[in-house]
Amino acid sequence: MPRLTVVVPVYNEQDVLPLFAERIRPVLDGLHVSYEVLAVDDGSRDATPVVLESLRRQWPQLRTVRLRSNSGHQNALAAGLHRAGGEYVVSIDVDLQDPPEVIGDMLRLAESANLDVVHGVRADRSTDTPFKRGTAGLYYRLIRRIVGTEVPHNAGDFRLLSRTAVDALTALPEHQPVYRLLVPWLGLPSGEITYTRAVRAAGQSKYPLAKMIRLALDSVVGFSAAPLRVATWLGLGGIVLSTVLAVAGLVAWIRGDVVPGWTSMIVAVGFLGALQLLCLGLLGEYVARIFTTLQARPAFVVAYDSASEADLCKL
Ligand code: UDP
Ligand code: MG
Repeated sequence: MPRLTVVVPVYNEQDVLPLFAERIRPVLDGLHVSYEVLAVDDGSRDATPVVLESLRRQWPQLRTVRLRSNSGHQNALAAGLHRAGGEYVVSIDVDLQDPPEVIGDMLRLAESANLDVVHGVRADRSTDTPFKRGTAGLYYRLIRRIVGTEVPHNAGDFRLLSRTAVDALTALPEHQPVYRLLVPWLGLPSGEITYTRAVRAAGQSKYPLAKMIRLALDSVVGFSAAPLRVATWLGLGGIVLSTVLAVAGLVAWIRGDVVPGWTSMIVAVGFLGALQLLCLGLLGEYVARIFTTLQARPAFVVAYDSASEADLCKL
């Protein structure tokens, strides 16, 4: 069992991988602890598998796990946590936005203060685009209100976990895990290390708007039934409103001036239509979750693990 496992999710990162290895290897070698780097290839479609394989030939501590298809950042992290052997596990992005030098500080803090979790907290967001800064600010504010657990502001997925924390997380039957919420939810002794997030070393962000929205939805739906209640209240309000409108329409009809009522009816139909769509959308989020849970499909399927002899025979 190595002292430290570094889990790094990798998706279409052929350009940044050699830079990552070059930068992190001397840092980890310099820690003078036994370690493994577990690269989880999240179903990359570029030359990532080839680059990983050539890196692995020169770096005995590098272990690669390949997922069959692109399962998303959080599920790739899940795969890494399930397969990590270390007494401590650090998750880090491959694009060098999280400085590898901080890993040593995290490990020392965890060891000296006997902590199970050390969050990497961003000092500021000056390297982000204004759009990313705005949406991230909104996300963390929303999470604070809705989730209820104390989530450190601006803590992403750069963190250290002890074996206790990893075992607790992998024991959860969670299908769409959001680790930045699940980890604080565990309530284990935690610390923070502030670091400055760099710009991406190479390549493009693998988080388009659609994936950001997915993460936000999973965060809210995974932790709170509040949106469902909002839908209920909106639905009740809509019923009251439509009743009032119906009475008004009836009165107009009795008086014989039906035509003036036409506008209000159109408004009511439009409003109710929108309301119903909103409620259906929210219900759909929960129904989808029940559905995926009942299906009990694995969130990821490992295609290959360089540490497993059985998998090697399959090649
Ligand atoms: N990533 C992944 N699967 C995905 C998207 C991203 O494994 O579907 C990895 C990616 O290779 C990187 C990390 O998750 O190591 C963070 O992604 P990225 O740097 O693109 O996100 P950003 O920093 O732009 O939010
Ligand atoms: Mg990044």
